[in-house]
Amino acid sequence: MRKITSPDLMKINNRRRILEIIYTEKNIYRAQIADMTNMSNQTITNLVKELINEGMVEEITLENKALGRNPMALSIRYKQLCSIGVEISVESINAGLYDAAGNEINKLNIIRDINRNVIDVLKEVIGKMIKSAEGLRILGIAISVEGIVDDRNGVVIKSKNLDLDGINILSELEYLDIPVQIKNDVNILAETDYGREQTNNYMLIKLGGGIGAALVLNGNLLRSSNNAAGEFGHVRLYSVSNLKACKCGQYGCLTTEASITAIEEKTGMPVEELARLYQSGDSKARKVIKEIAGYISEPLTNIIAILDLDKVIFTGKLVDLFGDELTCMLEEDINQNLNKWSSFKGIDVLNDYDITARCAHYVVNNFFLKWKDETYD
Ligand SMILES: [Zn+2]
Repeated sequence: MRKITSPDLMKINNRRRILEIIYTEKNIYRAQIADMTNMSNQTITNLVKELINEGMVEEITLENKALGRNPMALSIRYKQLCSIGVEISVESINAGLYDAAGNEINKLNIIRDINRNVIDVLKEVIGKMIKSAEGLRILGIAISVEGIVDDRNGVVIKSKNLDLDGINILSELEYLDIPVQIKNDVNILAETDYGREQTNNYMLIKLGGGIGAALVLNGNLLRSSNNAAGEFGHVRLYSVSNLKACKCGQYGCLTTEASITAIEEKTGMPVEELARLYQSGDSKARKVIKEIAGYISEPLTNIIAILDLDKVIFTGKLVDLFGDELTCMLEEDINQNLNKWSSFKGIDVLNDYDITARCAHYVVNNFFLKWKDETYD
């Protein structure tokens, strides 16, 4: 690769800064960009011209009588830019192509076939999405995986029944020549949870076939050496008498008692059936859910206390099925056991989201806002 010299780097940084401003401020005039940066009018004129020619930016007319005349404002060319979001789950591989404003262009869903290699299906799905993006500029691809993911290197460390353990997805997709990011599913939800501006300290917990979580502290996602921060499913329960063996090598983990897989094993029925019984007022079904709430709230109360979290946000199929009642039980348990100094303000629920759309949004946001994190070597 050609070595990047400092004038080149300065130009790259100036271009990215202009794009960042146009993306953040929505519609903006060249003169306003000059006010916000140390760049000369000529530099801005030249770089904007380049960005317009490349199809990244467009000129639009705004009604602005205060300025006396009507100069052309600048906007990101949202319809010309797109990103791809992919979800690899135990049941299926889902993909979505979205323009940079988040409008859906194409979607695809392929049910998992145990006779087919996941990576082959992934390549096929992405290939189809790229084909439907013809004529558009693809900013990147983000892939969500259930499990422990080394997102710096694009390696799946431990996935739940996906046969992806140890696979470097980035290397597998290198031939695409498009930036690709691999993220844990709950982490990507937390990083795109733009509706939670009221708090910077929260835990997002997904209750599904397994149990996963992400911690956002002081507005930043907690990362750790082994990428296993937030493995809430593998905290130990001490109130359970019959300790079950867990895949993680321990006994009596939260996931062996409170995940949907565990509940279905325990009750001998699909969780949807349990929800139906619960809704009809069945006392046994109610007892099961009350017990689950107890298992979750015990370790969770300690985490809230030690990190002084403001909020806990629940998501996932179990929350979709038992909604408010489960979160009410959890909130009651937590409030009963939490110390009086805690900042805890309650539980929120996150549902009705599309993970492929979240992944695609993550790509766009990162492209325009996180460019300083990139290295030029
Ligand atoms: Zn475990």
